[in-house]
Amino acid sequence: MSSSADTRLPRAERAALARLATDRLRTAAVDAVAIGWVDNAGLARVKAVPVGGLVHAASWGVGAAPCFDAFLVDDSTAEPVTGPVAGPTADGTAPDPAAPPAGSGAVGDLRLYPDLDRLVPLAAQPGWAWAPADRYTQQDTPHPGCQRLFARRAEAAARARGLSLRAGIEVEWVAALAGPPEEEPRYPTAGPAYGLQRLTDLSDYLRDVLRALEQQGLNVLQIHPEYAPGQFEVSVAPEGPVAAADTSVLVRHTVRAVSARHGLRASFAPAVEPGGVGNGSHLHLSLWRDGRNLGHGGPGPHGLTGEAEAFLAGVLAALPELLVLGTPSPAGYLRLVPSRWAGAYRCWGLENREAALRLVTGSEGERADTANAEIKCFDGAANPYLAVGAVLAAGLAGIDGGLRLPPETTVDPARLAPGTVARLPADLSEALAAYERSAVLREALGEPLYRAVLAVRRAESALFAGRGAEEIIAATRWRY
Ligand code: GLU
Ligand code: MG
Repeated sequence: MSSSADTRLPRAERAALARLATDRLRTAAVDAVAIGWVDNAGLARVKAVPVGGLVHAASWGVGAAPCFDAFLVDDSTAEPVTGPVAGPTADGTAPDPAAPPAGSGAVGDLRLYPDLDRLVPLAAQPGWAWAPADRYTQQDTPHPGCQRLFARRAEAAARARGLSLRAGIEVEWVAALAGPPEEEPRYPTAGPAYGLQRLTDLSDYLRDVLRALEQQGLNVLQIHPEYAPGQFEVSVAPEGPVAAADTSVLVRHTVRAVSARHGLRASFAPAVEPGGVGNGSHLHLSLWRDGRNLGHGGPGPHGLTGEAEAFLAGVLAALPELLVLGTPSPAGYLRLVPSRWAGAYRCWGLENREAALRLVTGSEGERADTANAEIKCFDGAANPYLAVGAVLAAGLAGIDGGLRLPPETTVDPARLAPGTVARLPADLSEALAAYERSAVLREALGEPLYRAVLAVRRAESALFAGRGAEEIIAATRWRY
């Protein structure tokens, strides 16, 4: 799966489409286009061009340094992982000791190609449009460290087997008054968890979020106050995995932009208050073949077909290493604890909100459409392209191995005798140890991306080693 193919249209066709898009943007009074990607630290980064530069950007790309692959949450950079990595390669041969092409050095350049299919004027930033980028080399070959191209490869690997994934990423955030970032957060509503009062306190704000998302063509399913002070959630309709990852970037960007217009600041960080309920970024997924939802009408638990069960069993088995991509920050382990609905246990269960893998069938009568599984343990520090691509790889490996789900956990695992159900890794280093043993992720990501992720995660682990919850939270609260 790590082999890279160029998925772009020929240059002349890209230019022609970009000319049409430029006309549309000018009609919509757009002056500038933000061309974004998400780095291995989970931070959305950007280059922007004036609208007149879109044709050139679509034809030849926009420059961006490869050192962004080594950026950490605090904007310092990781040293590349050059030595052998503990685990085996997929084919059992010795690890390649070569440095990844994208080190932390100052030399080199890449090209960002805006995906015109996702180009959209930004409703909460008049005069601006946004498009996600795929990253290519100056030699016009796919950049092996490009996270979005990795997700595309994973999607294509499933498609080659006649399978497609429908995914939706829930976005939780905490809205705070926009004071100096070093101050403790102050919340714009004192309304209770899930309280109607929060809707009255922030009525205009939430309506503006909703309106902006819909003006950008997003299909919002729900918006509601969450548990923690100032916390809200928005969910959108499922779509293909790359599209779902794009959408989550756009949703967050939009929430941030609307927040700024209301004197607020949004935090998507896993932990916002020490000891408090954090922000999750749950990934919903369903597997489809020939237009049929494989999570429904089968002989397995709760109607799973054999293929869907094996896929989910593959995901469940790989959760410790998947955390490196889905719960990648040391801050995430302040959130990923029992009794916060974060899914801290390595188990599955129908509608079980304390299980890392929650099965959701939906109401009788619409299950053929709605049956899905939710990975609850992931958070907003994840690069969504890495998360969906890695989950696909783990699920497909589950199908290859003919895996079955272990017995279901039907109660809150915290109420069972200790050790009955295993906890997920309690910190990033534990998750990293599993990642270093994962031949499946190593093969799927490809060596350069596998090592770039390892470098960043090891460096963030070291960055926060020995620091207390308050310090970690203060350093990450406004970064994601
Ligand atoms: N905020 C919780 C989390 O950290 C999730 C709450 C919910 O189930 O929606 O994942
Ligand atoms: Mg929620």
